Amino acid sequence: MDFNDLADLIFPNAKEISYYEEKYPERNLNEGAMVTRFAPSPTGFIHIGGLFGSIIDRKLAQQSKGVFILRIEDTDQKREIENGVSQIVDGLKAFDIVPDEGMISENEEIGDYGPYKQSERKDIYEAYAKHLIKQGLAYPCFCTPEELEEIRAKQESAKIRPGYYGVWAKYRNFPIDEAIQKIKDGVPYIIRFKSQGREDRRIKHKDSIKGNIEFPENDQDIVIIKADGLPTYHFAHAVDDHLMRVTHVIRGDEWVSSLPLHLELFRALGFKPPKYAHTATIMKDDNGSKRKISKRKDPEAAVSFYHEQGIPSDAVVEYLLNIANSNFEPWRRANPDKSISEFELQLNKMSVSGAVFDMVKLLDVSKNVISKYSAEKIYDETLKWASKYDKELEKLLSDNKDYSIKVLNIERGKAKPRKDISKWSDVKEIIRYMYEEEYNKMNDYEFQKIDDKEEIKDILNSYIENYFDINDDKDTWFNKIKDLSEHKGYVREVKEYKQEPEKYKGHVGDVSTVIRVALTTKHNTPDLYEIMQVLGKETVIKRLKNFIKR
Ligand code: GLU
Repeated sequence: MDFNDLADLIFPNAKEISYYEEKYPERNLNEGAMVTRFAPSPTGFIHIGGLFGSIIDRKLAQQSKGVFILRIEDTDQKREIENGVSQIVDGLKAFDIVPDEGMISENEEIGDYGPYKQSERKDIYEAYAKHLIKQGLAYPCFCTPEELEEIRAKQESAKIRPGYYGVWAKYRNFPIDEAIQKIKDGVPYIIRFKSQGREDRRIKHKDSIKGNIEFPENDQDIVIIKADGLPTYHFAHAVDDHLMRVTHVIRGDEWVSSLPLHLELFRALGFKPPKYAHTATIMKDDNGSKRKISKRKDPEAAVSFYHEQGIPSDAVVEYLLNIANSNFEPWRRANPDKSISEFELQLNKMSVSGAVFDMVKLLDVSKNVISKYSAEKIYDETLKWASKYDKELEKLLSDNKDYSIKVLNIERGKAKPRKDISKWSDVKEIIRYMYEEEYNKMNDYEFQKIDDKEEIKDILNSYIENYFDINDDKDTWFNKIKDLSEHKGYVREVKEYKQEPEKYKGHVGDVSTVIRVALTTKHNTPDLYEIMQVLGKETVIKRLKNFIKR
């Protein structure tokens, strides 16, 4: 009896690995083309760190004319949820991340290197596990959970490194015929890797982000095939990334400590390892101390949060590129109008330590991104958002489409467009006063310097009677407000007022604020002239007159 008999008994139907090596040949790509993959579990949930990684995967493949794969790692079937794959596919699509190969819906995939769902690759893993067994590099382990617990307890009380390795690896050197007998007797088992590593030796590796790193070798006989017949992450990673001919494995740095094991697995399997790039974890500032952003504690850990808030996807992507690459910010400054697809991402410019997620900065980025949108686009996006999250706003917008676009177009499409919207959930509060039914509900008038009722009435009366004409151009309109100011004892120019403030009641800005607040309730709005043009003559007069009456 030898390893071949054992391997044949365990995997009687497995094919030779040469079959798969030929079926999935080296890719015929240009030099430098990168093959990347995003490999989430189908939990339906996309973590901000996952989005971050997939943006990098997508971008590197795109800019090097390579291939970006979406592979689903569903070997932990306890964690699965219904429609988990399509939620990930759609979740990524919302950020314009579409794979060249891999899953494109719950059950559909594209590409020649599939299946792209690990649960459908069982025959492949079996072939490679069998290959390892034949070489004496893997073996069945019959330990019961109780036995494993016993080993652990002994190691703990003797203060020895925990794990299944060396002398602790009970079935590592188990006689083949006894193993065969146990299997024939129906004793349950799993398959373990037979590590050739030694803890007292070190390996060096160059990570594409972290640079040179050094670790002790792996010596753990880790599980490669579980009791349910499916592979563990480590084994599937080696087999899949090899057969999918992935050139760059970009993954979170929680995996960096597994690198010695992975490199050993690649060697044992006869594979050339890919380049690894371990990305820094996205952190959160929690009252002055940095910690990992957490799915449990932080709503912003889930990508769905950004949709709920109405932060546009391209703003989120732009922000993540900001924290990904130190050369993004200077690039953006030099190219304010270029699309992010033109930005060239460099792995060696990735930040090594965990970037802190900064909501204020994200909203700032978002403001800038939205400021470049057309009014029509803002209308469409806000309506789309409102149809899910704010029915009232949805009705307001859809009942008044053309008018709303005019409202949103105020101070837009100019060299210095307005920057007051950072998310679609802001829009309602920002434009409310432009709609009669909403304006009539508002009664918190933000008067500033001039707040005396009689003075306000006087200014408004005089404005309607002698100075307001909807047909005036902007200069004439403003000159008339200056005339009105002078007439009421306020100075025409702010500059003059600043020189001798004691000489005047106030200046033209104080007077225009009275008109602004009466018309909108707000002291801070976009351009008042444009607002009045959009409201129209009748509405302006009606609002001012009603206000005076009150
Ligand atoms: N399924 C693994 C995870 O979600 C993938 C890690 C990797 O990219 O290799 O963490």
